[in-house]
Amino acid sequence: MQKKSGAVMNLLEEKQLEKEENEQILRQKSRERLLEVARKKRKKKRMRKIILTTSLLIAAAATVTLCFVFAETILQDMTDVEVDYSANNTPVNEKAPKEDVPEFVSSGYDHIEYSDASKNSRYDSYKMQNPELSDEEIVWRVNANLDKPMYEFDIPVSGYDDPYIIVNKYYTVPEGYRPPDLEDFGGGQLLREETGNAYVKMREDAQKEGLNIRLVSGYRTVEYQEGLYNRYLGSDTQENVDRYSARPGHSEHHTGMAMDIFGSQDGLRNFENTPEYPWVRDNCHKYGFIIRYLKETESITGYEAEPWHLRYVGVEVATDMKEKNIKSFEEYHAKYIG
Ligand SMILES: [Zn+2]
Repeated sequence: MQKKSGAVMNLLEEKQLEKEENEQILRQKSRERLLEVARKKRKKKRMRKIILTTSLLIAAAATVTLCFVFAETILQDMTDVEVDYSANNTPVNEKAPKEDVPEFVSSGYDHIEYSDASKNSRYDSYKMQNPELSDEEIVWRVNANLDKPMYEFDIPVSGYDDPYIIVNKYYTVPEGYRPPDLEDFGGGQLLREETGNAYVKMREDAQKEGLNIRLVSGYRTVEYQEGLYNRYLGSDTQENVDRYSARPGHSEHHTGMAMDIFGSQDGLRNFENTPEYPWVRDNCHKYGFIIRYLKETESITGYEAEPWHLRYVGVEVATDMKEKNIKSFEEYHAKYIG
């Protein structure tokens, strides 16, 4: 019986042990499950963090890019000032940094009698760049195209019939331009008839006072001027040559209404030192001539002084210019001829 009860005890103990073992396994499994759940939770959390960070980075990059594009557009707008010259059939766009242009409110130019309303935007632009100039100066200078760079536009001349034709660094004659009434007024030098007759009268009156005026260069073809200009370019910079020689098509000599003269001494550069020069300076208007290029008009004509180069504009205009003390034909033309 004791033996039997001992065996029962062993069985009970075994069962108890088995039970405990099972419980331990269950606890172990449960712990493992919990750990697995916790691991999964951490993984999920990490993924959420990565997605959130990536999204934030993408959003930040997009914002920075947008800011750059926006800033660039604003800066572009600030630096573009468009000047429209289409009113004169020579469209160009000039860009100028806006920060260099002071605040400006136009008061209009109707009070200037020779103003042209179609040029108001050019007047405004030129005034912004030259605030020291009076409205009158602004208007005639723009009318004379001085707001545009010299030699950048070839505006065709008005033609043979215009006694006040302007040929300069803006206005050009076409190839083959040859006035119909050219005549030889000495030494093979050609002038238009009216110009030549005025020259002869002036020379004869000077002669009566013992002075000797000689025509040395009258009408020139575009081809001739091309050769002359290119010869100068062979030994000087273009910037320098442009100050004393006209580019082909731009010489006033093409009109047959301009001439170079010698005094009692040979040489154009000597003319200013001859007794003929002060007489010509004080009297040429009586014959319809003006000294075309003066020291004080270099910024307007683009040429240094040429006391020997005369232009025929007729007695009325030459006298009026003298009375009004207008030094350049560009100014007189822009104000009174247009
Ligand atoms: Zn000349």
